Amino acid sequence: MAFEYGVDLFSIDLRSVMMVSVLLGILFSAGLLAARSYHEGRIRGSLTIWAAGMLLQPLAWLLIVLRGQIPDYLSIVVGNSLSVMTFALYAHALRYLHGQLSLPRLVYALGALVFIGLSAEVLFIHQPYWRMIGLSSVIAVFLFRVARETMRGPWRTQQTGVQMTAAVFFLGSGIMAFRVVYELLLAPAVHQAFDLTAMQSVVYFYAALGPVIASFGYVLICNETTVVELRQLAATDPLTGLFNRRPFEQMSEKLLADAARKRRPLALLIIDVDHFKHFNDSYGHALGDAVLQRLAEVLQGQLRGADLIGRMGGEEFAALLPDTGPAQAQQVAERLRAAVDALEVRSVGVVVRIQVSIGLAMLDGNATQDDEPSMLLAGLMREADLAMYAAKRAGRNRVEVAW
Ligand code: GH3
Ligand code: MG
Ligand code: MG
Repeated sequence: MAFEYGVDLFSIDLRSVMMVSVLLGILFSAGLLAARSYHEGRIRGSLTIWAAGMLLQPLAWLLIVLRGQIPDYLSIVVGNSLSVMTFALYAHALRYLHGQLSLPRLVYALGALVFIGLSAEVLFIHQPYWRMIGLSSVIAVFLFRVARETMRGPWRTQQTGVQMTAAVFFLGSGIMAFRVVYELLLAPAVHQAFDLTAMQSVVYFYAALGPVIASFGYVLICNETTVVELRQLAATDPLTGLFNRRPFEQMSEKLLADAARKRRPLALLIIDVDHFKHFNDSYGHALGDAVLQRLAEVLQGQLRGADLIGRMGGEEFAALLPDTGPAQAQQVAERLRAAVDALEVRSVGVVVRIQVSIGLAMLDGNATQDDEPSMLLAGLMREADLAMYAAKRAGRNRVEVAW
């Protein structure tokens, strides 16, 4: 009696395991549906689709568990098809979450294949063994597709939620593929669906717990997607799409610390639109907004990828240029000024133009890694600001340098 004191895992009643899964599924989908009210757009839509899957699952389990007490067609065909469809809905929900509103066609097609195959077997063929082999093969391919769908989002695949959900689906695919091999080559004899063989136990444990774990991963994915979106929303100015002051400053401090440590030159530009109050008074605030948008595009178009640009408020912008010496920085500033001067914005019946004044300050060659980055930035900002006001006093539409 080698296992006298062990727990015989396979003697656990599989129907009870599935009933627990039914309850968990209902609870979980209720939670997801409640969470919908905090979301909108594609996250809300995706939550609805996933919750529909989780609600369908208990129904599928119920039909499967009632095998023998209800007609086989309901239990075997409808039950298994619904169960497969819940996974199709999960793939659909994930696709929807990353903005692809079209259906995952292959996944639904495989689901339909399961339904047609099962119907044919139960009604005409009566070969339970081959039904199980066929069903398992299709589900193996199907779950593999679902897992791939999970990995495809714009999210980083090292996210816990993505890994968790994908792992559940890959595992399911693997179990089903193994089941086919096992039943074809290794299994001793044909058996009933609720026979307590090791293979059956693995399959039903997976079917009962897999979706709950996948759903937990899915909630993490939704959560992460929301956080990333909110962070982006908070960091960028809705009018121009540029960084707001705070994220601009945070990123600038990193670049400044870097420059001070490596003793590399760095330049800061403050760019302010000339007589913009007058512009608004003459042409209206709406055209003022449109001009600011175009201005942001022009500024951004003139800078390198490594440069940082932000809207500091109103009609004032700032640009931080890493690895840029005084002569080059002055060239860039002049190029920006000229590009804005050349910009023509057309609106109904008018062509309008604006000019900017630019103040330029350089990171002091004496700055070291011991200097507090926020202090370095504050000092640079002050100098560039003074230079910008000097440019205003000197007649506007020009660049002034702070040294
Ligand atoms: P100066 O040449 O000295 O910079 O003159 P100015 O009129 O540009 O300076 P001031 O700071 O007095 O005015 C800035 C104006 O910019 C005030 C406001 O009407 C306008 N402004 C600020 N933010 C926005 C915005 O988001 N949209 C529009 N249309 N106008 C804005
Ligand atoms: Mg101004
Ligand atoms: Mg201003």
